[in-house]
Amino acid sequence: MDIVQVFKTMQYGPAPESPDAGYAWLDDHERKFGLFINNQWLVPEGAGYHPSYNPATGELLAETVQAGQEEVDEAVAAARAAFQTWSQTPGLVRARYLYAIARNIQKHHRLLAVLESMDNGKPIRESRDIDVPLLARHFYYHAGWAQLMETELAGYQPVGVVGQIIPWNFPLLMLAWKIAPAIAMGNTVVLKPASYTRLTALLFAEVVAEAGLPPGVVNIITGSSKAGSMLVEHPDVDKIAFTGSTEVGRILRRQTAGSGKRLSLELGGKSPFVVFEDADLDSAIEGVVDAIWFNQGQVCCAGSRLLVQENVAGRFIDKLKERMGHLRVGDPLDKAIDMGAIVDQTQWETVDRWVKISVEEGGQLFQPDIDMPENGCFYRPTLITGLDPAAQAVQEEIFGPVLVSLTFRSPAEAIALANNTRYGLAASVWSENINLALDVASKIKAGTLWVNSTNLFDAASGFGGYRESGFGREGGREGLFEYLRPAWQARPRPGFDPGEISAWGKHIPARPHLPANGRGADGLPRVDRTPKMYIGGKQVRPDGHYTRAVLSPKGEIIGQVGDGNRKDIRDAVEAAHAAHTAKPGWAMRHGYNRSQILYFIAENLDARADEFARRIAAMTGRSLKSAREELDLSVDRLFTYAAWSDKYGGALQETTLRGVTVAVNEPIGVVGIACPDDYPLLAFVSLMAPAIARGNTVVVLPSEKHPLSATDFYQVLDTSDVPAGVVNIVTGDRDHLVKTLIQHEDVDAVWYFGTAEGSYHVEYESAANMKRTWVNYGIDRDWSDPHQGAGHEFLHEAIQVKNIWVPTGE
Ligand code: NAP
Repeated sequence: MDIVQVFKTMQYGPAPESPDAGYAWLDDHERKFGLFINNQWLVPEGAGYHPSYNPATGELLAETVQAGQEEVDEAVAAARAAFQTWSQTPGLVRARYLYAIARNIQKHHRLLAVLESMDNGKPIRESRDIDVPLLARHFYYHAGWAQLMETELAGYQPVGVVGQIIPWNFPLLMLAWKIAPAIAMGNTVVLKPASYTRLTALLFAEVVAEAGLPPGVVNIITGSSKAGSMLVEHPDVDKIAFTGSTEVGRILRRQTAGSGKRLSLELGGKSPFVVFEDADLDSAIEGVVDAIWFNQGQVCCAGSRLLVQENVAGRFIDKLKERMGHLRVGDPLDKAIDMGAIVDQTQWETVDRWVKISVEEGGQLFQPDIDMPENGCFYRPTLITGLDPAAQAVQEEIFGPVLVSLTFRSPAEAIALANNTRYGLAASVWSENINLALDVASKIKAGTLWVNSTNLFDAASGFGGYRESGFGREGGREGLFEYLRPAWQARPRPGFDPGEISAWGKHIPARPHLPANGRGADGLPRVDRTPKMYIGGKQVRPDGHYTRAVLSPKGEIIGQVGDGNRKDIRDAVEAAHAAHTAKPGWAMRHGYNRSQILYFIAENLDARADEFARRIAAMTGRSLKSAREELDLSVDRLFTYAAWSDKYGGALQETTLRGVTVAVNEPIGVVGIACPDDYPLLAFVSLMAPAIARGNTVVVLPSEKHPLSATDFYQVLDTSDVPAGVVNIVTGDRDHLVKTLIQHEDVDAVWYFGTAEGSYHVEYESAANMKRTWVNYGIDRDWSDPHQGAGHEFLHEAIQVKNIWVPTGE
């Protein structure tokens, strides 16, 4: 036998990891667990229990309590009490606790990994080498931020008590992504693990206790989705951080709508894995293995849609099938396997149903003829080719070891296919041509992009989605803001009862105010100055051909504006979308160009200062002096965002990658903005300017009561080189118009500064396509205050962070 034959016939023997330490820990607890509240195990009287099974063997591992309302209340009360002191604890002290947790994780590394694999079914190779090291890394990284918070994040305060709900696919890692940044920033938490995988969260509770963390800072409650729902509904919870399916994310968005609770959602995905003809195909094959068979494909960012350039597709798929024939599926505690068990039989059946659907849809099924365990919840690695891009199996998240594959011809087609999804969590791009790879990476709409690599994670880089993959980031500096609010801002408690009202957004027609005498001082009919809508860089008549009178505080008619309707909004969104995607679109222009345009807007506004001041005074009844102050502040604010146009582009992340990880602050897209009545010019400018400075295009609904500062602004825009469609302005019944905006599929975010009731509806309706929202819950802010009317909060709302990972070296 020569060496080649030796390699070809070589077999791996089993390399079992002992489960004994896991069993010993379970036995110490008599295989029954209570709830971890105030650093103590609480077993409620008459509690119901839920079984935890090992999916690889079906063996019952332990039972855990099903928390009910009383227990949820108790956990939240513990977190609230602890918040009083924890939020005041110096950063240096909080850092010491996080550091101690990180050290304890390292000390118990093996036990955590073994139990994770027993409970979840993932290979020990992954839990030992990826999940648990990253768990420690997150606590180290955030220990650092706790220490630096006072100086580096001055002007921010913790959000309060945070309810955290996590899925079962990375039980420990998801817990770390949630707990570490929250407590680092001075919040306290109540965390609910997923029902399939509750055990390592309870082991982690002991790690916390061992570190001596003050009671109530971290509380862990086990329970069903009902307990999760109770946490979401709890009035004393200030924020919900959720990771899970888009379907449940939508429920949570609606449930928390209008409540003033902060929300971050890390949801599902259907991530593209794009292979160009010039890729190193063998490396890309290993990439595919990692992308879709890591953790049995139960990964939110799994590269589950393989897109291969047509001229190499045949060769690539042949290589892939060959490689699939060498995958080893088996006991998760065997160190030499590639794939372990699916978490539960129900999940196995869902995966299998999807495979059957894809075959019914015309897909060709390939499953390698490899040894499979006889018992337990194992699924064969699966490849489906020949499907249509619109097939359900190509569009929907299967969340199992199932890869669907399509082909493309050109880079443009690859980008179009990659973006042909409602999700936007991650993507991999494979090409030896760095220009091509980076260009494609910049054009795919997703929160994480891996170049010639896949599934790289680190605490220093934020992870999170675009579109229906949710909003918010976990990790990196960007992730901290999910757990912070500006120091001047109290937790909004709007007190609006959604049960009360149903007619919100119904069009309220303007009363026809016809001036009694349309003649001017010279006795002749006045020259009419009634503004139209401002759409696509032109003034266009309102579709409905109705006008609304603008009244002074004394009730005199001081002008008229168009009464916009849904068609005007549709046209404005179309224009904003065109300006965004045009070549080169507004987002593609460099910051220098955008800054010059903002400076130019400021110059032109300043040149007409007296006219604008008189208009503000006439509309609001304020003194000319106060109106002039508003004008001057508006000019200042334009200068501020002209400055920020080329200084908020992103950062180089200090991850563990040998290479470069770049956080790019991308625009969100088309942003709908509903302005308040206070400060009709300043609020309009304060909202519009940061949005366009950061490359968004906007549809602005100006103050309903005082719209004339915005309509006068048309001429400022016309004379300032603002490309057509970047700013669109529609006047009329603000809440009626915002209802159309929030329901529009092509609007990516809505900022609403109106009533508590309107804020509820905006948040509720946004769930349809998971738009980002920013609302004021009916609480006025002082737009003249530089903290409330400008700054980082505005910039943060105007961007979404994309992290691009580029490994370097041989
Ligand atoms: P899931 O069904 O949405 O459940 C996630 C968590 O929410 C579980 O703890 C679950 O509790 C709880 N839950 C379910 N319904 C609830 C409700 N109405 N109110 C409050 N809580 C509720 O998701 P999963 O099946 O566990 O996880 C898979 C999904 O997570 C996939 O879609 C995956 O893409 C996504 N994911 C996303 C990321 C990311 O970072 N974007 C990371 C990992 C996973 P029970 O378990 O008790 O039902």
